[in-house]
Amino acid sequence: MKRRRRRIEDIALQRIERLFELAEAEARKTKERSRSDRYVQLAREIGMRYRVRIPSHLKMRICKGCYTFLIPGENARVRLKGDYITTTCLGCGKQMRRPYKAPRAPSPRRNEDVSMKDFYNCP
Ligand SMILES: [Zn+2]
Repeated sequence: MKRRRRRIEDIALQRIERLFELAEAEARKTKERSRSDRYVQLAREIGMRYRVRIPSHLKMRICKGCYTFLIPGENARVRLKGDYITTTCLGCGKQMRRPYKAPRAPSPRRNEDVSMKDFYNCP
């Protein structure tokens, strides 16, 4: 059962990455953004359904306010402010901040002593 979940997560992640590739290609090709935004919407839905996180480098490309695909220099402004990278969506004005390098709390997922079985509460 564990192996099956792992495989599903893997496929979901591949699909998310592929959708972002398509969104990027579409954004370069045309000024029309609706298809890019649709790809991002699908990627988010896949992530939610299979409980897979969207990788952080891709998550930066989505507006947290209106969920459009962000292209820095076109519909997003990226500025380095103090300890943060601030991305402003030029569509809705939402600002997203991200530290240069996030300090991490110790996570059970990275701890060798805790097995994945414990983490997922499998029988
Ligand atoms: Zn926005």
